[in-house]
Amino acid sequence: MINVLKYTVLLIVLFVSSCQGQERKETVKKEKKTMKYTVEKTEAEWKAQLGPERYRILREKGTEYSHTGEYNLHFEKGTYVCGGCQEPLFSSDSKFESHCGWPSFDEALPGKVEYKKDLSFGMARTEILCAKCGGHLGHIFDDGPTETGKRFCVNSASLDFKK
Ligand SMILES: [Zn+2]
Repeated sequence: MINVLKYTVLLIVLFVSSCQGQERKETVKKEKKTMKYTVEKTEAEWKAQLGPERYRILREKGTEYSHTGEYNLHFEKGTYVCGGCQEPLFSSDSKFESHCGWPSFDEALPGKVEYKKDLSFGMARTEILCAKCGGHLGHIFDDGPTETGKRFCVNSASLDFKK
């Protein structure tokens, strides 16, 4: 009798643990499905590649101090690419001096930027991200002075420049 009981308990344990195994596999599958960017890296890989300041801005949605960024007053002809994955994001033709202290553009290259509602810091803003790697670029505002009416306010640290 005791043996039968032991056997039953063992079966239940086996059954429960195999169910958990199944669940775990499902979770892994789901995680894979949510990978949405062409360029995906682990946090450790991003940290090693970007260094602390760029990691803070690009991967942790940080903001550089205004009027301090490398490209704030930079008006050479060329292309601004993503600091994380080097994907072209903005043409120098769309850059303008907004006096806000961050590089500002009135449009992005088609399909290169992703838009996301951002309700942090008690404000309703639209975050802009690199569509290829999900790197945080800055925010977009509807107060641009040119005909697009847009102001893409971008951290210099999120960008690299190519002539
Ligand atoms: Zn990118």
